[in-house]
Amino acid sequence: MDMQVSFLDRLFESGLLIETGVEGLYGRSGRFEDVIAAFERLIDRYGAADGAEAIRFPPGMNRAYFEKSGYMKSFPQLAGTVHSFCGCELDHVSLLKCMDEGNDWTAEQKATDIVLTPAACYPLYPTVAKRGNLPEAGGLYDLQSYCFRHEPSNDPARQQLFRMREYVRMGTQADVTEFRQIWMDRGVKMMAEVELPVEIDVANDPFFGRAGKMMANNQRDQNLKFELLIPITSVTKPTACMSFNYHQDAFGTKWGLNLADGAVAHTACVGFGLERIALALFHHHGLDTEAWPASVRAALWG
Ligand code: ATP
Ligand code: ZN
Ligand code: MG
Repeated sequence: MDMQVSFLDRLFESGLLIETGVEGLYGRSGRFEDVIAAFERLIDRYGAADGAEAIRFPPGMNRAYFEKSGYMKSFPQLAGTVHSFCGCELDHVSLLKCMDEGNDWTAEQKATDIVLTPAACYPLYPTVAKRGNLPEAGGLYDLQSYCFRHEPSNDPARQQLFRMREYVRMGTQADVTEFRQIWMDRGVKMMAEVELPVEIDVANDPFFGRAGKMMANNQRDQNLKFELLIPITSVTKPTACMSFNYHQDAFGTKWGLNLADGAVAHTACVGFGLERIALALFHHHGLDTEAWPASVRAALWG
């Protein structure tokens, strides 16, 4: 606990992260962003030969897609929705009065058609489904988005708005499990290049409630999720900096993603937590990038 607070304080003092008054909501300095940009170029180099289709969605998604995704069933505690004032002039007068009196002015806000993206791949599935059957070789996509999760924390590695870089593969079971294995191997290699200690372990998502416990156990028992862990704020509980998820045909069935022959597609996604990787680099190599080992600087900046 003490270690967490002090690493966050050091990040604030160095200016790498900028306090906003909300836990898990930070500004980033130019130097912090340079590290993320450099690491993304490293990701690009590893993925270049695969020919993924790059798509960038904004950090909000269609609420109807979000509803259909089932996110509220599994992770209601993490979701963030966008609400707006939709009233007339009279309502505006009451709104300002309510704010003046220090009362809860947000109660009258109405849900918009946008929710905050919870994971970079969520807007992709309905987008690809609309195109019709996948090509013969299946699909491979390169995504990056700010994601929102309502999990305020004083651990700098657990933010509420953070970036996820993802590759998503759609194809046969063999295609997508091979893809996942390739990126697990690449992940280990990449982290070795930047001299970060890693461990790969089976994992589960934080499904909500008692029924969620069973879903989490099932996910673990079937080896559907792996994480690449790096110690950042704790040695005993290292932080997930990448995740490797096999969805079986769950998204294929839900969204109507079909292979060229009409069979339901299997999907897998590989996610890089960009802030977490930057924080791991700062934690292990120091807050001054100029003083990082030459080998690490070469891997990132050539
Ligand atoms: P954790 O178990 O630490 O909560 P997660 O299993 O929820 O992580 P995923 O849902 O697999 O993470 O998200 C993909 C990647 O996004 C993670 O491997 C991690 O690097 C990053 N990530 C997830 N949640 C956060 C967060 N709150 N702040 C920063 N990065 C995050
Ligand atoms: Zn994903
Ligand atoms: Mg989580």
